[in-house]
Parts: sequence; structure tokens; C-alpha cells
Amino acid sequence: MRYLPIHVDLQGENVLIAGGGKAAEAKLRTLVATDANLIVIAPEISAEIRRWVETDKCVWEARAFTNADLDNKRLVYAATEDQALDTCIVEQARARGVLVNTADNKQASDFFSPAIIDRSPVTISIGTEGTSPGLARALKADIEARLPESLGRLALSLGNVRKHLTHLLPDFTKRQQFWAKLFNAKDVLNWNERDLQSKIDAALADNDAGLGHVALVGAGPGDPDLLTHQARHKLFAADVIVYDRLVSEAVLSFGRKEAEYIYVGKIPNGKSTPQTEINAILVQKASEGLSVVRLKGGDPLVFGRADEEIDALVAANISFEICPGITSAAAAAAAIGVSLTSRGQNKAVSLITGHDTKGFAEQDWTTLARPDSRAAIYMGVGAARFIQGRLLVHGAASNLPVTVVENASRPEQIIVASSLATLADDLVAGGIKGPAILLIGYAVREVKSVLAQKTGT
Ligand code: SAH
Repeated sequence: MRYLPIHVDLQGENVLIAGGGKAAEAKLRTLVATDANLIVIAPEISAEIRRWVETDKCVWEARAFTNADLDNKRLVYAATEDQALDTCIVEQARARGVLVNTADNKQASDFFSPAIIDRSPVTISIGTEGTSPGLARALKADIEARLPESLGRLALSLGNVRKHLTHLLPDFTKRQQFWAKLFNAKDVLNWNERDLQSKIDAALADNDAGLGHVALVGAGPGDPDLLTHQARHKLFAADVIVYDRLVSEAVLSFGRKEAEYIYVGKIPNGKSTPQTEINAILVQKASEGLSVVRLKGGDPLVFGRADEEIDALVAANISFEICPGITSAAAAAAAIGVSLTSRGQNKAVSLITGHDTKGFAEQDWTTLARPDSRAAIYMGVGAARFIQGRLLVHGAASNLPVTVVENASRPEQIIVASSLATLADDLVAGGIKGPAILLIGYAVREVKSVLAQKTGT
């Protein structure tokens, strides 16, 4: 993001528009909706601008621009349609540290005019960093159609509630919890002012209960589109988000920015937050009456040590719930277009780990080496040579297909098609470091259309 969208207070501020033709008119069309003092400097003005002058929306000084016009201006628009003159205005404005926008000239602009959806006091601005104003307009039309006319009135009512809330809930954290609970109701766009009071009452009553709570939430494999609605709502309502290494930034961004974020990631073979410490954090934060989300990659109940956390919560008498997520084996299978179980081929699939507390994990290799066995191996990259050796020793075919999917569902996803004989070497050659799932007994489906979207092949 090169441009930071901000809402500037223009009430009573001087804004200069140099120019009186079509370019200036386009800028003014948005500006006249503000409370700024708009000053148009131009020898001539268009009929539209004249109408705004006559209705006191702006003032016009019928003359050429001079440098002194830049004095005491909050914003400047160079829209004279004379390139040399616009350039001169930009140079002068920048020399004085005044933000300037030049019509249709990205290089000569410090800021852009976004497409605006105005449901004042709710305003939504859409910018494309100058790449496509047409796209911004199309998005505006699309979003505008979904926003109720009453949105502005709803915001004003909420503003009123906010004023009184300091008395009702003097504690800042309690107020934050109240808002999170209020907006946790799913369909804000369908709210109307009539329902507002009952929603407020419900959120206040909920707040009164003051009990902390922990939700163990599956963050899915990484693609934010694969997050459940439930997970999104939990994240939005959370006071505290305790998250793992494999949770993507895109998923984390569904949390509120005022929430407390606690990283408890475990780096393979590296530094990690001890599980007992994680349990203690969950218990501590919930005991303070906070709403806690324990966010885990994939599904929380698959290699997520959820039981240890649940035991700690039960022992501390803290309520909890579990929100499932898409486990990475499911995302990996989807990436290669194969079914994890297939009629007539395999009746079962084993979800196994390459590592356990003792190092490389031992498994029932005899069963896994059978021709109809299928397995999805988590945390298996470092153990690949060990797994390969064990399966071969127990009689698995050396040409057994193995497919490795690294970063399933993420933009950086990589698929390596291998076989048992060459698995470990192929992982090294493919630069696979994880997170990855080893799909034992599964070959990439040779239908390009299935994979094209994700792999770019
Ligand atoms: N609860 C998680 C698994 C946690 S164990 C789940 O249900 O997916 C961590 C392992 O998950 C990693 O070592 C890797 O094997 C796998 N993993 C997590 N995210 C992944 C992803 N996007 N692509 C491939 N494997 C992933």
C-alpha cells in the first residue's frame, strides 16, 4: 500500500482550485459536498462552477494564478488544463509543504481523489493508486447498491450511544467488549434504527455477565477465503488472539486492531512457547473476563494439542468452544485434484505426523506399506528420508506415487510430484522446507483445468 487513505477534516479550511474548466469542475463536484472554503482562481469558469459560485458553494476570483494564492491553504488542486502552469503550481505548493493534486497526473500528485460512497457520516473511499479510476467507479456502484440509505442515520444513533456509554461502562475494556458483542451480530447491513435498542440491550446484558471465554478456532490452511464465517465472527469479537506460526497475516487481519495479539508459534526444531505457558495464557486472559480466541492453523483438533488446552480450561472452570477449520491435508488434496478416499481404491486414509516428542515418529509401517494404504503426513518434510526408508523396508512399492504440497491454498503454493524411491531427494531438489503435507499413495490428477487456478501450470 503506497497511499494511506485518511479522512481529512476540511471544516472551515481553505482549499484552492486553480482552473475553471472541466478538470476543475470534476474536482469541485466532490469538494462542494464538504464544509471547506473553496476558492477557485481562474480567468474563466464553466457554467456548472458558476452555479456553485451563485449558490455560495465556492468563491471565484476571476484572474490568473499567482504564488501568493497558495498562502494558508490546506489542499491545492492544480486543474488549469495548462501543463506548464500546473507544473509551476505543483512546484510552488510542494516548496511550501502543501499537499497538491494535479488533474490526470499521477507524478505531480501527492494525493488522489478516491471514488466516494457518501452515507454521511459513513463515508467509504475506494482508491486504486491511480491504476484504474474506472475500476474504482465500478466498485463504488457495486458497493453502493448494497448499502442501505439509512446507514448514515444508524451511525448517528450509534454515535449517541457512544456518548452515553462512558457513563454506563466506565471501564475501557468493557466498552471494547460491548462494541465487539454488538457488532458480532452477523448482518450489520440489514440493521435498522428500530432494532438497535434491543441489540444494545442484549450486548449490555451479555457484558454484565463478565465471564471470560475461549474459542479454539481453526484458521484453515492460509487462504482467507477458506476461513469459516464462524471463525471470522469469533476473530472480530475477540479481545485477545493467541495465534500460531502457521496462521496467515490475511486471516489475522480479521481481528480488531485494538485486540491484544499474542504470538505463541513453534518453530520446527527451534524456539517455542512451552505448551504449559500457552495454557496459562488462555486461563489467565479468560479469567480476566476477556473473550479469547486461540487461533490454530488448519483445524484445531488435528495435531493441534487442543486436548491439553481444553484440559487446562476445564480445570480452571472456563467455558470454551471449538470452531473447526479446513485441515491442511484437505487443502493439499484439493490442490492436486484427488479424493482422499476413493471407492474401490482405499477405504481409509491415515493422518499421521512425521515428528513426535521423541523425534521421527514411528508408525504402523506394515499397515502403511500395504498397496491400498493412503496417508497424509503432517510435519513430514524433515522426516522424509526416514519415512521413505521405513515404507520401503516394509515392502511398499518404490514407484508408489507421493505428492508433496507446500503452502497449500496460499499464493506461494508449490506442488512436487514424486515417488517413494526419490521422495527425499525430490524434496531437496524442489526446495521444499514446509509447511507441507506429504500425500503418500496419491498422484496429481492429470487434468490441467483443475490445477491451473492454483499452481499456475
Ligand atoms: N492443525 C493443523 C496442523 C498443525 S501441524 C491442520 O489441521 O492443518 C503443522 C503442520 O501442518 C505443518 O508441519 C504442515 O505439515 C501442515 N500444514 C499447515 N499448514 C499447511 C499448508 N498451508 N500447506 C501444507 N501443509 C500445511
